[in-house]
Amino acid sequence: MAGIYIHVPFCYSRCSYCDFYKTTNQQFKDEYIKALCKEIKLYQSFLQKEKIETLYFGGGTPSTLTISELKEIIDLINQFTPVNSIKELTLEVNPDDINDKYISDLVHLGVNRLSMGIQSFFDEHLRKMNRRHNSRQALQAIEIAKKNGIDNMSIDLIYGLPYMSFEEWNTNVQLAIESNVQHISAYHLTFEKGTLYYDYLKKGKLVEVPEESSVQQFDYLRDELTKAGFDHYEISNFSLPGFESQHNSNYWTGEKYLGLGPSAHSFDGSNRRWNVRDVKRYIDNIEKNECFYETEELSSIDRYNELIMLGLRTQKGFKLSLIESFSETIRQFFARELKKQQEQAKVIIIDGFCRVSADSKMITDRIISDFFFVEDD
Ligand code: SF4
Repeated sequence: MAGIYIHVPFCYSRCSYCDFYKTTNQQFKDEYIKALCKEIKLYQSFLQKEKIETLYFGGGTPSTLTISELKEIIDLINQFTPVNSIKELTLEVNPDDINDKYISDLVHLGVNRLSMGIQSFFDEHLRKMNRRHNSRQALQAIEIAKKNGIDNMSIDLIYGLPYMSFEEWNTNVQLAIESNVQHISAYHLTFEKGTLYYDYLKKGKLVEVPEESSVQQFDYLRDELTKAGFDHYEISNFSLPGFESQHNSNYWTGEKYLGLGPSAHSFDGSNRRWNVRDVKRYIDNIEKNECFYETEELSSIDRYNELIMLGLRTQKGFKLSLIESFSETIRQFFARELKKQQEQAKVIIIDGFCRVSADSKMITDRIISDFFFVEDD
């Protein structure tokens, strides 16, 4: 079982918090499609050999691509693996790119899941984040998608915004529930180097919200979504039963995936590969048949840390027996840490799976870092 991720690096504007690889320069789009198609052909044996279950267009903004550009990419993939047997075909979209025709054409291409960047239903927040859409467009886009055959939709929200009150966050959560989507991802704002908000933070124009506020917002989100029937299946992800993101779940359970496009990451079971984070270099290097990626073989410590990092973020946790495959030193370290964390009721074991307890979800990152194995110098 494997997945394909395609990174579409184009955006019409830069959101103030975003550190995904993107460019607002659209002039390379044609060459990007050409290079991407060449990259797909380079991996035809992987595509022919593996059972591909998910295809995910992420970005950037994949909805900057026209239907014919998407069709060219999907048709090419279809030459190597039958696209109609892919279970989940997701496209990330921005609300202001949505109209009836675009959605019905996407459905016709085989897209059966949308992931929409809503972030907030307050125009003032959206302006401050430099989002292109407004609240009305967001609500309309959800309706247009539903009306045109999308019955598996995820929306993204951001909490921990310095200028968002608790009441406003509650409204965002309630509107998300009322929009009747099947999946909600909620991320805490982080100040990443290279973003406008990072500069604002450094200059004192923005301050991080106090931890109590973050906890209060997260608790409200979790409680309300749970009441509304959503499963909290990963730290940032909630879905109605049966609507978990299959593509992302495969990342968390260590399945293989092929990442295509600038900055995309791949994993073949033992090696990681990541493409250059620059669309021009990606295009040039592919065109000249030069290397456009770096690789690393995962050490056993890397694999252990990854198991911890990905597994503890999920609701189910990771299979305890997987720890048996590591060295005695790692196993002993894990056993000591597990005992400590269990005594503090931060992690629990259920049906052979190790997971973060419900009350400790908000400090998952801290628990993960306690479990990390770091070799002495
Ligand atoms: S959040 Fe999305 S739309 Fe905004 S800059 Fe980042 S990738 Fe582009």
